[in-house]
Amino acid sequence: MAPPPSIRIHVTQGDITRQQVSAIVNAANSSLLGGGGVDGAIHRAGGPQVLEECRAIRARQGGCKTGEAVITTGGRLPAAHVIHTVGPVWNGGHKGEPALLANCYRNSLRIAEEHQLESVAFPGISTGIYGYPKKEAAAVAVHEVQQWLAAHAFPQQVVFVAFDDENRRLYEEALDG
Ligand code: ADP
Repeated sequence: MAPPPSIRIHVTQGDITRQQVSAIVNAANSSLLGGGGVDGAIHRAGGPQVLEECRAIRARQGGCKTGEAVITTGGRLPAAHVIHTVGPVWNGGHKGEPALLANCYRNSLRIAEEHQLESVAFPGISTGIYGYPKKEAAAVAVHEVQQWLAAHAFPQQVVFVAFDDENRRLYEEALDG
C-alpha cells in the first residue's frame, strides 16, 4: 500500500531547475521550441540536448497540444527528465481553461507513472505569461495531484515549486483546505 497522498506532497519555494527530483515539469508552449519564463530557465539550465529532443518530438508529432505532455531528457539538469506540458492561456475562465489545466497535471503524472518516476516537481503551470489566476490554478493543481496519488503508486512524491511567497502560501492553503 502506498502512503496517503498528504505525505507524498511537498511545497517548496525557489528555482525549479535546481530541484533534485526524477523529473521537473516544464510549462512549455505548443511549439516545444522554448520560450520565456520557466520554459526559458529550463532550456538554459538543461542545455542543447533538451531542445534537440523537443525538436525530434516536434518533427514526429508536430509539437504538443494544450493539456498534453511529452518527456525528454533533463540534459544538464539535476533532474534526469523534463516533462513538457502546455498549459491553457487564461481567457476569462469560460473557454475550458480549468479542464485543460487539469489535463496538464493528469497527463504529466501519467507519463511519470509510465516511466515509474519516483519524484516529480511542478511549477505553477499557466500562472505566468498565460495569465491563469494563481489561486484557482493552485486549487486545480492540488486537486488533480491528490486525486492521482490516491489511485496510483507512481510518482511516489510530488513537489509544488512556488517561485514567490504568494504562490507558496496559495499551495499551502489549497493543501489545507
Ligand atoms: P506560462 O506561460 O505557463 O504562464 P510562465 O513560465 O510564464 O508559464 O510561468 C509559470 C510559473 O512559473 C509562474 O508562476 C512563474 O512565476 C514561475 N516560474 C518562472 N520561472 C521559474 C523557475 N525558474 N522556477 C520555478 N518557477 C518559475
